[in-house]
Amino acid sequence: MERPLEEIDRIVERRRGEAIRLLRELIRTPSLSGEEGEAALIVGEHLRAAGLKVEVDEIHNVKAEMRGIGGGHSILFNGHLDHVPPGTMADPYSAKIMDGSAFGVEGEVIYGRGACDMKGGVAAMAMALSILRELETPLLGDVKLAAVAQEETSGYGTLKTIRDGFLGDLAVIGEATNLNIHLGHRGAITVKMEIRGRSCHASAPDRGVNPLYKAAEIIQEIRSRIIPMLPTHPEYGETTLAVTMLKTRPEAVNVIPGVAEITLDCRNTPNLTPEELRRMLELLIEELRRRDPELDASVEIMRRIEDRPFTGYRVDPDQPMVREAKRAVEEAIKRDVKLGMWRFMTDGRFYAWRGIPAVGFGPGEERFAHTDQDHIRIEDYINSIKAYAWMACRICGVK
Ligand SMILES: [Zn+2]
Repeated sequence: MERPLEEIDRIVERRRGEAIRLLRELIRTPSLSGEEGEAALIVGEHLRAAGLKVEVDEIHNVKAEMRGIGGGHSILFNGHLDHVPPGTMADPYSAKIMDGSAFGVEGEVIYGRGACDMKGGVAAMAMALSILRELETPLLGDVKLAAVAQEETSGYGTLKTIRDGFLGDLAVIGEATNLNIHLGHRGAITVKMEIRGRSCHASAPDRGVNPLYKAAEIIQEIRSRIIPMLPTHPEYGETTLAVTMLKTRPEAVNVIPGVAEITLDCRNTPNLTPEELRRMLELLIEELRRRDPELDASVEIMRRIEDRPFTGYRVDPDQPMVREAKRAVEEAIKRDVKLGMWRFMTDGRFYAWRGIPAVGFGPGEERFAHTDQDHIRIEDYINSIKAYAWMACRICGVK
């Protein structure tokens, strides 16, 4: 069983330059959510050139498949092609190679928007598939890659591939894990609170009721009383809650608004349901109303693309395929890996909800995702290619 790993090692080293070129080309190609066409073309072409069966659907999901000779488990790699807007990042599409010391990391890195989240992961997965094609040893099970669109905005890309039946026995999510194995993540709840006042001319504020002062008080109470009360969970960690938006209606400099709207982002554990969070916030409003009878506010839980009480997931680390995946990574990168959980959400949840174990493994550190320091260590990127290819051999079986 060790022979294919040595072969993988050799091929990856020989194709190192090509791997780096592929990733840099992807970073140089902007692919905001909904605009993944060009990036899909690059990945699709790379896989087609390797002799894989490739299909690109109408929303620019790339689906590639390598059929095994039969009798093994199938593995499905999933990575997203889109990235968040560059924001204040300098030269976001430069894909420049620089020393990692600029970011406090060792070795050379490739810098650019999406390097860490997650063009590094998706390029490594594509490279792994084309390297598996080159192996002399045939695989028993099928290897698939879903390089999807629209992960950053909704997860619709992955959902569509699932609805189209593009599945595997084990899903591997390539989001940044710093080459460790991640088992899942917390859920997310978006809450809108509407505070109604009475609009009037800003030159005579006493004629109206300004909902912004009431919103300020609610925000203060959420911070000092609700957040410290949130539960933690032995496997999922802490529940977090953040106020992320404050909007008014109308929005004008010389009008006391009629309505203020607060948006909250809660990352919850299974021991806090959306209903329980709603109840906590409603109780807070009721209490504030005792001091301020004119307070008129309501709480609304926003619906998600696929609604369920808990939107996170965690795979069982003792599940045989999960153990096998961990072992494969350790053999390929020649060090022990840790089991962990992501702080953010991933498309892994859509597979997990359908009973398909979804493990996380990817190059890059989560703390650099969506930041101005978005980059990937070249050594980690190369190692992840070896690990993906070897994981496929371990899960699918070799002849
Ligand atoms: Zn991501």
